[in-house]
Amino acid sequence: MTTVKEILLCNFDNDYLQKKFRAYRLQTALVILLTAVMGASEWIVDHAIDPAAASGLIWMRLAYVWLLIPAWAIRRAPSHRSATLMALLTLLLAQIHDIAILRQLDGGLSTAVMSFVFYPLAVTLLCLGFSIFVNWLALALVTLSPFALAATGWLSELPNKLYGLIIWPTSIFLACICVTFAMGYHRRYLLERALEDASNTDALTGVANRRHFQHLLQRETSRLLRLAQPCALLMLDIDHFKRINDNFGHPTGDRVIKALADACTLNTRDVDEVARLGGEEFAVLMPGSTTEGAIHLAERIRQYIETMGFRDDLGHVIPWTVSIGVASLENSEQSMASIESLGEQLIGNADAALYAAKNAGRNCVKSL
Ligand code: GH3
Ligand code: MG
Ligand code: MG
Repeated sequence: MTTVKEILLCNFDNDYLQKKFRAYRLQTALVILLTAVMGASEWIVDHAIDPAAASGLIWMRLAYVWLLIPAWAIRRAPSHRSATLMALLTLLLAQIHDIAILRQLDGGLSTAVMSFVFYPLAVTLLCLGFSIFVNWLALALVTLSPFALAATGWLSELPNKLYGLIIWPTSIFLACICVTFAMGYHRRYLLERALEDASNTDALTGVANRRHFQHLLQRETSRLLRLAQPCALLMLDIDHFKRINDNFGHPTGDRVIKALADACTLNTRDVDEVARLGGEEFAVLMPGSTTEGAIHLAERIRQYIETMGFRDDLGHVIPWTVSIGVASLENSEQSMASIESLGEQLIGNADAALYAAKNAGRNCVKSL
């Protein structure tokens, strides 16, 4: 069961906030558009309050079209931070726009104070895609700003008591509603994360699966090429694995595969990516590593496995070894290759090196 504390802590996490913003960005833009329509159509209310002044206010009402700009900008905003700033600014300006109109109506503020309830409602919907703290900040802003404007004299007609009676219960209620919305999104976030992890991870070993590896390879090769940095790839395959299956059984074979994944994870750096490509074949992507560094690491893994003394459930020692092929971007024909094919070229070279290691008698490291 997720606690409120967990939900609040998530709101300091940039990745969480970015995902939340992406999930709600269209809705945020639509709420701003609807606010523009609402602001313009409230001319009918102006007309009911003060028909004489209303005819002169039609252009101010139509001027709500400016809200199209922030709606478009938020729809296209790259990050939740810039969108948050835009949303808060939009709220403040829209509220000032509305109050500026109401001031010109005879008795406008006392009659239309009821419509102020619309502000916190709009704020709640508009800020759903942002941090819960932004939700509360925006609510506080729209709730308190009429009081502040009244204190400065700009909104001297504001019936403070009536406004307070309406706005406080509404805003407090909506601040709590924001928490329930945040809980709903938090559940969705956790489910999406679990789904993403499951689709990227190999179930037996817990390392990246082939599909995710292809994505990582593409991402890293193009990034490192841009930065003019090296990148190496190890391809590992258990020697005579079929014999292990045949002699000790499939479940023990599975444990050996898992032991290889663990050996790779244990002997590599945090930046390296270990993946199971299928069966008893693994890859280790080493961003920033040269061929020499990769050969050194491959040799360490090979020796670690050779000397680890793996035992089956009955305590029998299972001798097993791996062959490793090493390739790096340094040795690829980068000028000839497009970024897309660079990853494929790296895999092809590592595969050829692995084949050479098998042909050289297995339990060894070969590079290309
Ligand atoms: P080599 O030294 O040439 O690599 O010989 P090998 O026997 O390891 O090579 P081969 O590719 O012929 O055999 C791989 C075997 O791995 C065949 C297959 O039954 C087995 N295998 C594939 N996936 C799994 C798995 O998930 N678990 C287990 N236990 N075995 C698997
Ligand atoms: Mg094998
Ligand atoms: Mg194989």
